[in-house]
Amino acid sequence: MSNVIGLACVICGTMYPEDFAGYVCTDHGNEGILDVRYDYERIGATFTREVLAENRDRTMWRYLPLMPLASDTVVPPLSIGGTPLYDVKPLAARLGIANLWVKDEGRQPTASLKDRASAMAVVKAQARAAEVVTTASTGNAAAALAGIAASVGLRSVIFVPSSAPEAKIAQLLAYGSTVARVNGTYTDAFELCMEAVAEYGWYNRNTGYNPFMTEGKKTAGLEILEDLGWEAPDAIFVSVGDGSIIGGVHKAVKDAFALGWIDRVPRIFGIQAAGSDYLVQAFESGEDVLTKPPISAETVADSISADLPRDRIKAMAAVTETGGAYLRVADDEILAAIPTLARGSGVFAEPAGAAPYAGIVAALDRGLIGAGDRVVMLATGSGLKDVASVMSAVAAVGTEPMYIDPNLEALKAALSN
Ligand SMILES: *Cc1c(COP(=O)(O)O)cnc(C)c1O
Ligand SMILES: [Zn+2]
Repeated sequence: MSNVIGLACVICGTMYPEDFAGYVCTDHGNEGILDVRYDYERIGATFTREVLAENRDRTMWRYLPLMPLASDTVVPPLSIGGTPLYDVKPLAARLGIANLWVKDEGRQPTASLKDRASAMAVVKAQARAAEVVTTASTGNAAAALAGIAASVGLRSVIFVPSSAPEAKIAQLLAYGSTVARVNGTYTDAFELCMEAVAEYGWYNRNTGYNPFMTEGKKTAGLEILEDLGWEAPDAIFVSVGDGSIIGGVHKAVKDAFALGWIDRVPRIFGIQAAGSDYLVQAFESGEDVLTKPPISAETVADSISADLPRDRIKAMAAVTETGGAYLRVADDEILAAIPTLARGSGVFAEPAGAAPYAGIVAALDRGLIGAGDRVVMLATGSGLKDVASVMSAVAAVGTEPMYIDPNLEALKAALSN
């Protein structure tokens, strides 16, 4: 038995039981994403900050009482979560802020934050005795699902847009997934995946559809708060594509606040690429994300390229309910953030992983955050995911290797240039 009260539609609030076989509200279809509701009184009676502090399990499963899972759940063997939160003083000094912490999600088993959600999907699929798990993805959710499914011997079928970076495709193939490289966009891949689910009955991990993905992703937020000794930072910066990660971070904050583990709420900032800025547009114009039509997304940061952010209702609430903002950053600012972050912290991130850094610069410029602030950014995925983008990023700042002959004279000549 878990601590879940039920699943509430984000549009109408109708409650569904935890074991509801559908994924979304029957009245609201794909838009009616469900939010998992917990009995915090019951949780807080035995699960406290002190109990957590005693727990030597550093993986995401240390927060099991705050998950839609029974306490005796058997979890996948890969070590997921427990990623480091670095206090990066040189970068904070460069920005002129009190503290900057970078949470390095590139350290996950498949090298992105998506492992947290995919692990939840695999556990749920096993509970339903599903033989196949599936998802559409820009690449990382796919790699995560493929890797974690492989770790428990479950079959995966993956739909990715043909534009997904090579490294992410390589991961899928190595993990043994059945890979459909769809001749189209992520939206096309998503729709095809949904049709396949209807046809074959596979377990559906899709982001902004499966209600449990938020509950996996929120563990990144819980780790941030716990690592800061439950002293909430002033601001958390998150890159946003479908809006599921930012919704997860918000859920972590809400859980911790409801349990009395933090006494104030950090402002949450969503960072989008200028060419994939659906939520920034809606934030600025006040348009209702339920009716705002899709845009045509185009950005170097493939992980945050989304025509229609699937989890947009939760994503908008994360910012508006915490007094944050949605900000857009240009592709060249995102690329420039990769070497800046790497040089100032040692954290090597893919474009979407470095984008929040560009967002912090933008927020400082606009006076949205200030010099006294304690700021956290999520570096959501490893730079090894997209080496081509990193190469263009370092070329853009004029960094190139010395091409030399194998002798000391050649080295001395090159170094004196
Ligand atoms: C998926 C992903 C994001 C964006 O997450 P959403 O939930 O789609 O908003 C950001 N960075 C990386 C590396 C990702 O894989
Ligand atoms: Zn509904």
